[in-house]
Amino acid sequence: MNKKTIKDIDVKGKKVLVRCDFNVPLLENGNIRDARRIVAAIPTIEYLINNGAKVILCSHLGRPKGEVKPEFSLKPVAKKLSELLKKNVKMAEDVVGESAKKLTSDMNDGDVVLLENVRFEKGEEKNDEELSKKLASLADIFVNDAFGTAHRAHSSTEGVAHFLPAVSGFLIEKEITFMGDTLENPKRPFIAILGGAKVSDKIGVIENLLDKVDTIIIGGGMAYTFLKAQGHKIGKSICENDKLDLANELLEKAKQKGVKIVLPTDSHISKEFANDAENMIVKSREIPDDFEGLDIGPETIKSFEKELEGAKTVIWNGPLGVCEFDNYCTGTEEIAKAIAKTGAISIVGGGDSAAAIEKLGLADKFSHISTGGGASLEFLEGKKLPGIECLQDK
Ligand code: AMP
Repeated sequence: MNKKTIKDIDVKGKKVLVRCDFNVPLLENGNIRDARRIVAAIPTIEYLINNGAKVILCSHLGRPKGEVKPEFSLKPVAKKLSELLKKNVKMAEDVVGESAKKLTSDMNDGDVVLLENVRFEKGEEKNDEELSKKLASLADIFVNDAFGTAHRAHSSTEGVAHFLPAVSGFLIEKEITFMGDTLENPKRPFIAILGGAKVSDKIGVIENLLDKVDTIIIGGGMAYTFLKAQGHKIGKSICENDKLDLANELLEKAKQKGVKIVLPTDSHISKEFANDAENMIVKSREIPDDFEGLDIGPETIKSFEKELEGAKTVIWNGPLGVCEFDNYCTGTEEIAKAIAKTGAISIVGGGDSAAAIEKLGLADKFSHISTGGGASLEFLEGKKLPGIECLQDK
């Protein structure tokens, strides 16, 4: 990675504003349902504490849309952080108001203050310069460690970097180093597996990967647009009819570049978009008019497994079926197991794929499970992420 990290600068005695990703799922009683994102931020925070910085943390939580909404307060996060760091984390009542100013002006080296949800400020998502300046005025250095929002140019992810020396934390460093190195110097065969609902979401990824991978396996809802483009009968499966030409163009480009594209040959289809409706396994090219494909079938699972045999690098983004329904998550789970079995360098992005891996207890068999679905997708598209571009070069 060519961006400076917290190890490249002197933080002793400095006020360091750290943009974290504390966007954790909450229970109805306000308790944290899954604290993994907070746990993941601890190495950066501890490094700063141990090196004598005054640590000011900020994050968004949910979508309060510029209004102060108590149900999106970061207070439960402050409590969890205090437990994990074994020290008192003071919670500001606001983002850049009197409370934030007072608490951050009154710090000793090693102290930690958490600002309120940055999205309580109307300017945050607009990347408002005034808000960026106010955030910057609280600190001497800016550290971005929130990979999940690195593809967004908001005040706390990008704007503030124009007014302070800005470097990355360990989490962003890990994401970029791992994904960057893998894409630049993949061990081959290099296979990408793409799933999810829509082709339109993944066009950029497919185009970028066509120059890098040996094989692209396509499953999930997006496969049906490709199948229809090839003239197959897909029933009422999800399909983007305005992307049929594009699907054919992508298939043609793949052919020219010598990239193998593997599509499903059979499907687990259902009469309704539901877990328990009438269902059967059929060839993907002959789906009856009143049925829709909700998962890949057993023959496809076998063929995808065969493609994966011997793979040295695997990138996976998006579920291969409708994982919200237990009966249609088989393909996704079997492919997760197959990737784990390869022992290949494996990178996973996206909530559904990551959830399947967690559920199967296979997380430690994957090299890297990205913390940012949208950000990792944009990275795979070869796009520059504003929250990383704005950091100082080495
Ligand atoms: P994405 O956000 O692009 O990763 O897509 C995830 C969504 O794709 C999930 O909500 C799945 O339900 C959906 N999906 C996967 N396979 C299918 C399918 N065969 N038909 C309809 N939706 C699907």
